[in-house]
Amino acid sequence: MVLSIKPAGAEGRRLRRAVTIAAIACFAGVTCRAWLAARAPWATAERHRVEADSLACIAALFLGALDVASPDDAKRFSEFGFKTTSGLDHRYPLRARLWQVVHAWPSARKQALLEYAKSHLGYATEFAAFALEGFGPAPRFVPTGRAPSMTFYAPQTASDAETLAAHLRWIHGEGGVGAFVQGHWGSWKALDPDDAELIATKDAVLRYLRWNNQRPLVEFDAMVDPFLAPVTGFGVDLPNRRMLLLLGPTLTDDDRRVLIAHEFTHQPLEAIISANQQVVRSIDRASCLFDGVDPHGYEGWPNFLRENLCRAVSYRVAGVPDRDTGFALEGDLGRELRNHEANASVPFDQFMVETLDTLARARCRASVSP
Ligand SMILES: [Zn+2]
Repeated sequence: MVLSIKPAGAEGRRLRRAVTIAAIACFAGVTCRAWLAARAPWATAERHRVEADSLACIAALFLGALDVASPDDAKRFSEFGFKTTSGLDHRYPLRARLWQVVHAWPSARKQALLEYAKSHLGYATEFAAFALEGFGPAPRFVPTGRAPSMTFYAPQTASDAETLAAHLRWIHGEGGVGAFVQGHWGSWKALDPDDAELIATKDAVLRYLRWNNQRPLVEFDAMVDPFLAPVTGFGVDLPNRRMLLLLGPTLTDDDRRVLIAHEFTHQPLEAIISANQQVVRSIDRASCLFDGVDPHGYEGWPNFLRENLCRAVSYRVAGVPDRDTGFALEGDLGRELRNHEANASVPFDQFMVETLDTLARARCRASVSP
């Protein structure tokens, strides 16, 4: 396991082919009408309120573990996106207040949580997804048997859902986190993006990708999880082909636009790739670009490439300068995207094929032929 935080999303590690089938259709030149009108009907503040309970409880579990962790353990947790007190300053008030709740717990309880956290350590984004995908609502947190993200990343953790459920029940009830969410829901809810912000970003991404895919996109919604590491996110795979984009905290408008654009881009990008075998083959041909790079925890070249592309696209869509977050292809893809913007007739799948072959020819020793 590579020990690095993955800013702007762990979800790139997974193939989302299974969820690109959709309930609403986006056809050539036309954006999703259901989305233009409003959020999907299931995306409501009431639903977010239910999800907030689960997100706060899973965050509190790891905060409890951190409260009694050794410096070495705390450093390791931090590398997985679970932040220590150093990240809990005034800029993240909900995190700091949740920490105060957790700090008052009996130390034996926190030791038990530390044992769980050490033996099941995974990325904070994945655990947030697990809390929503794998359990019914608070206060019972009944395991559903469905946990696509965690099953993919950590099948042992997914299969041990009852242990986690027991911790979540205590945390929500006796641990006081249910009451905490009740008391802070107003300020949490105010962090969530509104319809206009989401729709504008979605339209901008689809325009940028020159979306003409006949495959419908999955229905989706977005909410802020203020307990994730800053500028991280995850696409949570809810039942009935619904996607909830979890957005970590952001301090600037630029970061927020980048994060929303990034998390949304994963969906249409996956549809574009999976619809065209030429793109799939070009990704295979360019696999040498993965040799020797820091994968930042992303498993396999295709997933790593997707993450790099989402990053590069999100900077262009959000209208911010290209960023160097340590992902090997961000810079190259950013430059290629700028050239692509000037060629209005080239669809995005063709851009991908040409760009990957060009980069592979330039960077790899072995010759690359289409
Ligand atoms: Zn991502």
